[in-house]
Amino acid sequence: MATTDRLGRVVRDLRISVTDRCNFRCVYCMPKEVFGSSYRFLGRSEVLTFEEIERVARAFVDNGVTKIRLTGGEPLVRRDIERLVERLAAIDGVDDLTMTTNGVLLPQKARALADAGLTRVTVSLDALDDATFQAMNDVGVPVAKVIEGIEAAVSAGLGPVKVNAVVKRGLNEHAIIQLADRFRGTAVTVRYIEFMDVGTTNGWNLADVLPAQEVIDRIGARWPLDPVGRTTPGEVAARWRYRDGAGEIGVISSVTQPFCGACTRARISADGTLYTCLFAAAGHDLRSLLRDGSTGTLEARIAAVWRGRSDRYSELRAAATTSSARVEMSAIGG
Ligand code: SF4
Repeated sequence: MATTDRLGRVVRDLRISVTDRCNFRCVYCMPKEVFGSSYRFLGRSEVLTFEEIERVARAFVDNGVTKIRLTGGEPLVRRDIERLVERLAAIDGVDDLTMTTNGVLLPQKARALADAGLTRVTVSLDALDDATFQAMNDVGVPVAKVIEGIEAAVSAGLGPVKVNAVVKRGLNEHAIIQLADRFRGTAVTVRYIEFMDVGTTNGWNLADVLPAQEVIDRIGARWPLDPVGRTTPGEVAARWRYRDGAGEIGVISSVTQPFCGACTRARISADGTLYTCLFAAAGHDLRSLLRDGSTGTLEARIAAVWRGRSDRYSELRAAATTSSARVEMSAIGG
């Protein structure tokens, strides 16, 4: 029986951050000014081991989780990540095991991940011109490296591959049509994400948000679209189909059309802290429970935390945005 929270939402999706490190410095997630050479990342002993992550995942499955997404930071910078995938893929009850990655290490890893049991990948790609993409990833990585990663994922069967693009007004809005044009008629679906006030370091401002409806209007003016809606409970993206049969796009509208009412997502940071919302100010420590040897307590602790959950930050955003602390996106991976 799945555990439900105070708003009647079951816990169905677990997002596991396997590292707080990344080989990018995306300006809306991990700005270089903050996450520079003096930034203290988690030490080896602070990060959950694969064995511990598996125990946490099993305890969540016992509470109703069926979908696990591996995130970071950048999950592919964690060594031997395919060993963890193997462990998680072997858990009865996990019917969807996915990963969000920036894609540049996929050419080396895609086959091994697929063989280990990974179902699908979502690749972040915010623009198709190097000038904009490099300005956004802030480490000079060219678009071609990510395209190579996407192609490696498609040929390894890690599909349907999704591409996530965060749209910031005045920065990469020209990429909306370019991305649609590039991936229409392919096995890859583009999802446009509204720029969000995640964490406290990305200088978020409502004026920089390009609403999802404007994305739909711009693409629809070029290629007519029909709404598909959300077809699975808790689905993050609202889906739209090209009328000419060239596939779909998605929009994730946390700012202008929040979807907290159906939010079934729990998040674990790399140091074993449970967060019940992307915009949570604080979390719940599970690592000490893992390391003091008691397993039974873990399921009960997770159930108790989830039953006490009433998060709906995006619906309350206008009232709550000012200075409240929020966990960093790079610590829980979106
Ligand atoms: S703001 Fe929090 S509660 Fe709302 S959808 Fe996002 S993670 Fe879920």
